[in-house]
Amino acid sequence: MGTGKRIILFSAVVGLALALIFTAYLLASRKAGEDIRLAGDRQLQIIALDLDSVLERYETLPYSVAYLPLAAQVLATPHDPVLLHELNLTLQDLQQQAKVESIYLMDQDGNTLASSNWDGAISYVGRNFGFRPYFIESIKANGVGGATGHFYAIGNSTNIPGYFISQAVYPLGSKRGAAKPVGVIAVKISLNAFEQAWRSSEEPIALADRHGVVFLSNRAAWQYRSLRLLDQAVQQRLLETLQYADKRIAPISALPKTERAGFGEYLARPIGRLGWQLMLFPNQAKVQRAGVQAALIALLLLVLLAAFCGAYYQRRRRLEEGRAAQLALSHAADELEQKIAQRTLELTLGNERLAAQLDKLRETDNLLRSSQNEMVQTGKLAMLGQMAAGITHELNQPLTAIRAFADNAGVFLARGNSAQASANLQHISDASARMGSIIGQLKGFARKSAETLTVVDVPKAIFAAAALLRSEFERHGVALELRLTEPVSVLGDSIRMEQVLINLLRNAIDAMITIDTSETTETIEVAQPAALKEVMVLLEQDAQWAIIRIIDTGTGLPDQVIAHLFEPFFTTKASGHGLGLGLAISSSIVQAMGGSLTAVNRPLGGAEFVVRIPLYIL
Ligand code: ADP
Repeated sequence: MGTGKRIILFSAVVGLALALIFTAYLLASRKAGEDIRLAGDRQLQIIALDLDSVLERYETLPYSVAYLPLAAQVLATPHDPVLLHELNLTLQDLQQQAKVESIYLMDQDGNTLASSNWDGAISYVGRNFGFRPYFIESIKANGVGGATGHFYAIGNSTNIPGYFISQAVYPLGSKRGAAKPVGVIAVKISLNAFEQAWRSSEEPIALADRHGVVFLSNRAAWQYRSLRLLDQAVQQRLLETLQYADKRIAPISALPKTERAGFGEYLARPIGRLGWQLMLFPNQAKVQRAGVQAALIALLLLVLLAAFCGAYYQRRRRLEEGRAAQLALSHAADELEQKIAQRTLELTLGNERLAAQLDKLRETDNLLRSSQNEMVQTGKLAMLGQMAAGITHELNQPLTAIRAFADNAGVFLARGNSAQASANLQHISDASARMGSIIGQLKGFARKSAETLTVVDVPKAIFAAAALLRSEFERHGVALELRLTEPVSVLGDSIRMEQVLINLLRNAIDAMITIDTSETTETIEVAQPAALKEVMVLLEQDAQWAIIRIIDTGTGLPDQVIAHLFEPFFTTKASGHGLGLGLAISSSIVQAMGGSLTAVNRPLGGAEFVVRIPLYIL
């Protein structure tokens, strides 16, 4: 949401809240106003009833008294002291019984002839009340009506305010209303008791006359003050009748603030016969207080609502956040699962690929192995071809010699030279022996290796080979040292293993002996005898291999020899001394066992042939 929108929303909410608070204030104050008015009305009604009943109760009192024959007699003979005294006593008795302020009789001029307070500190007797409106009203009765007079005033002689009810008194013997009144009976009632009763009321209560002059109130300061400013004529009249003695009536609003407190709107009811108004001034502060209270409650409720809304919003937001987090989590989990699934698939595929590759590799390996076997065999066949050529060459020479010796022997025999013939036969025998040895060498080569392999005890094979060549070593003065410390086993054919070792040992001997050149027709190289003629056989092993080192102190291996060392029919030896097959055959045997045959020159002279064959591990 944009800031502008937020501000608008915020103002709307605040405006609404203010409107609500104001409405609460209005409603509450109106309600309080109504309540107070109702209560006031009720109170007013009660007071009015009370007041009216009091006023009405005494309404007939002067009426009855006016009927007293004594009153008419006194009016007829006003100077009879006995009658006067009797009337005075009667009025006093009536006054005490009726519990009124006073009862008194005036003649037609308003002079008081008899009174209940005749013997009191202030006696009405002898006083003239002819100016009082109630007297005038009663004395003016014309027989049709108006014989009753009413008035409220501050007592002229007593200074005590009271309500006056008067009644015309007619002459003795004349019918009421048939003659002119000869006097007036008046009853004065005090309303001070009401004033006392109203004191308990919080609200101002006032009783005002028809001019609006308050003459009775529970607010002392309001007494004899007007609700509004009186006009001059009214003021004048009041003074004339001495209704409120000689008081000048000022409006209540002119009072100092503390004294006029509570003056304002009022409830009113008419009372009595004089146009009075009973007024109650409801407490406006109460109304306002109720309004303010309601507004405060509304404010509190709004604050609570806002707090609640805030909390709810927060909670919802937290829930939403939680839900979002959960969603994100489950998304992440899904993603992870997917990734894992994908990765697993990839791995599975990779694995399958690897397995396939491994299978292929195995296949290739098998193929290689079989082809290697084939090749070994094929190599042998190839060698056989070469060998055939070699053998032809090798055998051809002694064969030619044999034929020549045989031809010559025939000639010698024919000549009778038997000694020469016999010598020739010896030569033939030697030559055929040589041919036999050549053929003997070929026998081993032609034999195919056994298919079934056995465990070959390598030290044992070495001992066997050394034992076979013992006489050779001794004859040529070559020392043989065997260092065979460990028991080592390989898989293969022990006979062929021995054959390899014999070949290598014989070559070592050959490399250290002086070849008698006189016996040979072609000598390629003359081996220089080493100062020390020694052959050493070392047997070692590492994690995988059995390693046999055959070390001699012979001529060593020139570069051009090393290059062709393992080729069939490569030899540096004189014809008849070597076919050049030994190393070729040995290498192929070792390879057939899964191993290798290599050769190096020793740093201090001599050659070292190394046979490596895979260890047979139980
Ligand atoms: P032959 O022994 O019949 O010559 P080989 O294949 O056994 O055939 O050997 C080939 C050649 O390798 C030999 O003629 C010789 O020159 C060389 N040779 C073999 N063994 C040794 C050795 N221990 N020291 C020096 N030269 C060697």
